[in-house]
Amino acid sequence: MKSEVIIQKSHRNPFDPPLRATGVKLVVIESREDLKRAITPQTAMMHFSNFADTEGQIKVEEWVKLAHENQIPAFVDAAADTPPVSHLWDYANMGYDLIAFSGGKAIRGPQCAGLLVGKKDLVAYALLNNSPHEDTLGRSQKVGKEEIVGMVKALESYLKEDHEALNKEWQRRLDFISGQVTKIPGVTTSFPAPEIANHVPHMHIKWDGARIALTPREASAALRGATPSIVLSSGEHDEALSMNSFMLQPGEEKIIARELVKVLKSHAA
Ligand SMILES: *Cc1c(COP(=O)(O)O)cnc(C)c1O
Repeated sequence: MKSEVIIQKSHRNPFDPPLRATGVKLVVIESREDLKRAITPQTAMMHFSNFADTEGQIKVEEWVKLAHENQIPAFVDAAADTPPVSHLWDYANMGYDLIAFSGGKAIRGPQCAGLLVGKKDLVAYALLNNSPHEDTLGRSQKVGKEEIVGMVKALESYLKEDHEALNKEWQRRLDFISGQVTKIPGVTTSFPAPEIANHVPHMHIKWDGARIALTPREASAALRGATPSIVLSSGEHDEALSMNSFMLQPGEEKIIARELVKVLKSHAA
């Protein structure tokens, strides 16, 4: 069988062990020249990690073009790439043969389900590795019938949603929390939404360390230990508390605001 998958070096990520678990060899390249040399009769697929689009030398549209010039199927990992909702079909229209989305991110379906969109024959091969088949690689990642039904329902609901209103609601929740915490002297917020993956409203919460004697990591730990437990990231470099709001149930933003104010105030000078 063809057993090599080509990937750009900057597209390697914590989610490529599942790719390698199939037994394929990842052939890592950087330039267009590298790619030319890497393509052989053994090449099974060209893999693209969409969140890394800006990092690689070859961008998303060119990647699929080059794959097809060489009669190689192109796969795009677009796990976190809705919204916009149109991404559910944009990459298929661009020509990608297989496109994967997470079920449990902004589609808000079951965490253990997802979508594989693409060419009928290739999706059918993937299905052969899924339940109810027993002697397959996919068995260890079985998606149950409950999750499959849940995923279909989540997708139906998501497609019918007023996406602009949804985005406004996600921003409104963050604005509410921001309004409460910035009443505390020294606390500021900013709203840096990622351009590609998880393109939903985000908020960073920072404060003047001279006025509030607490690092973001300590604040995060205090919130986690509180009742109810709240999990907010403290950033890769402990630079700010960071959060988004699209996984919250209605009204939970009030609980987060209340607990955050409590933690920050209790360390205010
Ligand atoms: C989240 C994510 C995954 C994994 O998706 P799950 O639905 O959590 O299995 C894979 N690739 C990327 C780029 C992701 O962001």
